[in-house]
Order: sequence, then structure tokens, then C-alpha cells
Amino acid sequence: MRWGTFVLCLCAASLLGQMTGAVASDEIPIPKPRPSAAEIEQARKNKPKSSGGLPEEERVCRDRLKRLDVRFTPVRRVSGRGGCGIEHPIEIRQLPGGITLSGRTILNCTTGLALANWTSQSAAPAARRIYGSRLVRIDQFASYACRSRNSKKGARLSEHAKGSAIDLGRFILADGKSVEVGFPGARETRRKAFLKKLRTAGCTFFKTVLGPGSDGYHKDHFHFDMAQRRRGYKYCR
Ligand SMILES: [Zn+2]
Repeated sequence: MRWGTFVLCLCAASLLGQMTGAVASDEIPIPKPRPSAAEIEQARKNKPKSSGGLPEEERVCRDRLKRLDVRFTPVRRVSGRGGCGIEHPIEIRQLPGGITLSGRTILNCTTGLALANWTSQSAAPAARRIYGSRLVRIDQFASYACRSRNSKKGARLSEHAKGSAIDLGRFILADGKSVEVGFPGARETRRKAFLKKLRTAGCTFFKTVLGPGSDGYHKDHFHFDMAQRRRGYKYCR
């Protein structure tokens, strides 16, 4: 091949390359098919409803607790055997109105919120009205506990094992009076009225209420829980 022919060949090849390149970049992209309504719905479902790592529902619940002036701290996920555990647990240190809780109270937020509302709307006003004193402390006997109902072997998992239950046994007033859950004597009219009010109101805020007289396991405390039942059925006795 002569030098002139070689140069001509190179130029032709280069020109051809540029032309094919130009054609490729001018190709009209084929639009992707539109997602079907079913695909859009699925994507919406799959989208995590979270904010700051917490599900929306949880975030809203914690905001409500803050607005009620409840002092709490988020704690690490609790997991136990056989279905025990709390996905987003909190430790409640103080209830509305500066009322303290004895012991370490670990619950899920929904149960904590029910407890806060019950305290501020029923327990605290009842103490003022019936005893003329301010409720300052509630002694809880149990919050989260990985166990079966009434700790019976083979029984279904307790709501305590999900952080959805709390047992309350004693109420301390600002004047130093201590009101214990139990069977009031015939002359203990104020204690009787106070405990009755607390128990009745429990059914407004919780899904289950048990106490003295329910069975042999609840002679000295109220058991309040948020058990989910069909059609929102409540069990208070
Ligand atoms: Zn209980």
C-alpha cells in the first residue's frame, strides 16, 4: 500500500467511526413502560414509614408522651425467647404532674401513653378529690417480663412479655399517705372509693383490667394491659 492510500484509508475509517458515533448518541430513548397501578401500590407499601429510624406511629406516640410531660428514655430493643420482646421500648421515669414510678418501668410506647393518660386524667384527680392530697408516686410491681400468663407453665404469653402490661400496687400521696391495692375494710370508705375510681377508669384507657377479686393472682395489684382483641373487645373485671 502506498503512503497516500494508507492516510486516505485512516481518514475514511475515522470519519465512519464519528458518523456511527453520532448516530448512536442521537438515538431516541425508548420510554420505559408505565408502572401498573398494582406496582405503584406495592411500592407505596414497601416504602418504609420511618423518621429517624422509628416508624411513624412510634414517633407520633413519643411526641404525645413529650406533650404530656412524661419523662422517658428510649432503650435498646428487648428480645427474649418464645416471642418475648419489645421492638421500640422506652423506660418511663416520670408521669405527668411530676408523679414518679418506682422500679424500672420498661414498656412499649402505646402502653406508656395509656398509663400517662390514666394517671393525669383519673388517678391524680381522684387523689385530690378523695384524699385532698397530691399523688406523688406510684409503685409498680411489674412491667416488661418474659413470662406466660400468671407465670403458669404452658399458658399463653403474658402481655407483660410484649411490654404491653403494667401492674400497679401502691399509691403515695404528698401528705405521706400510702394507699395499697387490696380489699378495703368496711370503714375504709375513701380507700374503697379511690381504688374503685382507679379501676373503673383503667378500662377507659386500657384493654384489660384485673385486680382484687378477679382471680387469685391479682389480690394486691391492678393489672392493666393493651391486649388486642377482635372488634376492640375489652376485658375488665
Ligand atoms: Zn400483670
